[in-house]
Amino acid sequence: MVYDVIIIGGGPAGLTAGLYAARSRLKTIIIEKDVDGGQIATTSDVENYPGVPADATGPSLVARMVEQALGFGAEKVSDEVIEVDFRDKIKIVKGKEKEYQGRTVIIATGSVPRAIGCPGEDKLVGRGISYCATCDGPFFEDLEVYVVGGGDAAVEEAMYLTKFAKKVTIIHRRDELRAAASIQEKAFANPKMNFIWDSVVTEIKGEEMLESFIIKNVKTGEVKEIFPDEDDGVFAIFVYIGHLPSTGIFEGVVEMDKGYILTNENMETNIPGVYAAGDNRVKSLRQVVTAAADGAIAAMQAEKYIEDNFK
Ligand code: NAP
Repeated sequence: MVYDVIIIGGGPAGLTAGLYAARSRLKTIIIEKDVDGGQIATTSDVENYPGVPADATGPSLVARMVEQALGFGAEKVSDEVIEVDFRDKIKIVKGKEKEYQGRTVIIATGSVPRAIGCPGEDKLVGRGISYCATCDGPFFEDLEVYVVGGGDAAVEEAMYLTKFAKKVTIIHRRDELRAAASIQEKAFANPKMNFIWDSVVTEIKGEEMLESFIIKNVKTGEVKEIFPDEDDGVFAIFVYIGHLPSTGIFEGVVEMDKGYILTNENMETNIPGVYAAGDNRVKSLRQVVTAAADGAIAAMQAEKYIEDNFK
């Protein structure tokens, strides 16, 4: 079977593309390798997507997006795309499970959290090192946690962690946060929040679980080892230091800049019939609302392309 639109990625960009394409009666498939929703699925609060209730969570928003896309007739499969061939008019998308053929492809693969990259980090992921406060925060009820980063995500997720943890300490490499002023105000007013400035994590220690970690002050060079509170014996580090685009399989296939896919304002890549949408493309604002908008534009352009080239 040849699909009209193959959407790679089931985050807000892919799900919105699926909604628009299916609603236009295009034969549409969304391929997602992991959990639906991409990064938004691991976001605690969603305050700034228009129209959502004040208590909206990432997972609740994702569930509605999935329901809406499938409701209009989009198909969704769980598969990991490992290779693509966009040389012919019918594009080939190879998954681990199956091969898919499409008249158009929308790449909505998003991005993944950036790791600190210091010794010991890899080994202790899920054992005290986490990139997802929503997933792992509740494990640290009444314990101390540390959050690395100073952007919107770090500060918002640190605030979310104050719901569980007895103390949350942000470790930031500079002496001022990058996060939006409104988010900063709330953080500074929260009595559970603490800050370690001008510091980076240089080593993470532990056998089975996180036992301690080393921070270095980038201004003074001072090095300090941090242990859990003696009474607790357990603590955690949540890492929020930005993202890397998930575009590896498209290298040498579509044009990119530092790993981000280049598109025009119609989401068109350099290959006719192939579009990119969401956090994986070069753009100025990476938000749910801009990912959704990209997805809508890509789907509408795919419809136009099919009209012009296949009918
Ligand atoms: P970000 O804005 O790129 O911030 C990354 C933070 O991590 C920065 O403070 C940066 O420090 C720090 N950092 C980067 N590399 C580091 C390293 N190797 N070691 C230590 N620290 C490092 O990323 P983000 O917070 O994940 O946000 C990504 C995008 O999503 C942004 O556009 C953001 O506005 C958006 N977002 C929005 C909301 C919201 O509006 N509610 C919520 C979450 C995310 P420096 O400041 O020194 O560069």
